[in-house]
Amino acid sequence: MQMTSSTVPSPHDYDAAIVGCGVVGLVASLVLASAGFKVLVVGRRPQQFVAQPEQRFDPRVFALSHRSQRVLDKLRVWDNIPSDKVQPVSDMQIWGDTQGQLRFSASDTGVESLTWIIEQSCLFEVLFAAMRYQPGIEWQDAKVEGLSRERDMWAVVTNLKTSRVPIVIAADGAQSQTRRQAGLDFELRDYSAEGVVCTYQIEKPHHGTARQWFFGDSVLAMLPLPGPHVSMVWSMPLHQSQAFMQLGPMQMVDRIAGVGQGAVQQWYGHLQPVGSAHAFSLKHGVAPVWFDQGVVLMGDAAHVIHPLAGQGLNLGLEDAAELANLLTSRKRLLAVQRLGLADEQLWRAWERRRKAACAPVHFLTDGLHTLFRLDLPGATWVRNKGMQIVNQLPMLKRWLSQQAMR
Ligand SMILES: Cc1cc2nc3c(=O)[nH]c(=O)nc-3n(C[C@H](O)[C@H](O)[C@H](O)COP(=O)(O)OP(=O)(O)OC[C@H]3O[C@@H](n4cnc5c(N)ncnc54)[C@H](O)[C@@H]3O)c2cc1C
Repeated sequence: MQMTSSTVPSPHDYDAAIVGCGVVGLVASLVLASAGFKVLVVGRRPQQFVAQPEQRFDPRVFALSHRSQRVLDKLRVWDNIPSDKVQPVSDMQIWGDTQGQLRFSASDTGVESLTWIIEQSCLFEVLFAAMRYQPGIEWQDAKVEGLSRERDMWAVVTNLKTSRVPIVIAADGAQSQTRRQAGLDFELRDYSAEGVVCTYQIEKPHHGTARQWFFGDSVLAMLPLPGPHVSMVWSMPLHQSQAFMQLGPMQMVDRIAGVGQGAVQQWYGHLQPVGSAHAFSLKHGVAPVWFDQGVVLMGDAAHVIHPLAGQGLNLGLEDAAELANLLTSRKRLLAVQRLGLADEQLWRAWERRRKAACAPVHFLTDGLHTLFRLDLPGATWVRNKGMQIVNQLPMLKRWLSQQAMR
């Protein structure tokens, strides 16, 4: 078909620029390059939290869902992750703040693993390696310093060069500068809380079980890692996390041993810190508009949730995967290849689907966080009784774990 002058895209250097070298930005670049597009990725290689070379673990770990695993598998990245770096989770135990308890098991759902625990640095290793084999990707190890709109193109400015692109994907995290420069709103609510993470060596085997305790104002999760190790993610109010971060490593261990009537010690024995603790501020946020005038928001730049359900990165990876789904339709792909990635229909469809998929996860995560912080008469009874009831309904439990794993 002949192109009309109105459909001829202006000259550009790349089909799209992706701002941010977080996991979401890297995966989105691989998705676009696999579909034949020429992509510029701009971002500094993320900071490693591993303090000394002999420290075996990165304290930033993610629980990856089945959907995320499939995204990485399709990009031929999953198989490159060393097997001693992935911990499958066969069981999950959750305790309420009184008698409530929930237990999920992979065998009840007919799968090998409910989720996989993997370190952030390990994901970066395999994603950067995959990018090196993708001729369609050019990576600039730089920060975006300026962004300006010139007719139907964006000029992306770094200290290295200025590039003209029809589409900018903002994958630059919750504080996205790209989002701000594009004038897109973000409804952010600060939980006035932090998630403290640290890796521990344990005495008793974890048997691939992830455990989580809701203590009213804090949520403590112990995620299994390869070998005799666990990753602690303890979300707590800011004044508590600030006090916790002032403690020495062994004082932190004593503090952990003191919560939940010694539950952690009972399951894991004595904890030995592996590396130091880090605190991350916790927020809830969502952008009302995820696509406007050639700027697309992805990952935390579009939506941020409390880590209590371990879903933030999973949602970001699904943002990228949905793009892959839309581009696998041959008709759509041909249209996009002809019109360029600025195809409004593509992004409107993408935005509709992603908002619909993210909304329930946001609602549930924020709701759970609120429910466990409620200090009203009867609230403790309701939440713990609710957990007990769900735990006794195998059909509902299976459905719940299938929803979480999809
Ligand atoms: C304690 C804690 C535990 C969590 N656990 C889980 C879990 O188990 N499972 C899960 O799914 N999610 C989890 N999450 C959520 C998860 O960490 C985030 O959702 C995820 O990291 C978001 O990835 P992203 O790539 O969108 O953003 P980010 O990881 O924030 O990456 C953004 C990147 O953009 C770069 N950047 C910023 N500005 C610029 C610029 N101007 N130019 C170029 N680059 C720029 C940054 O340097 C950064 O590298 C957890 C979060 C916390 C706080």
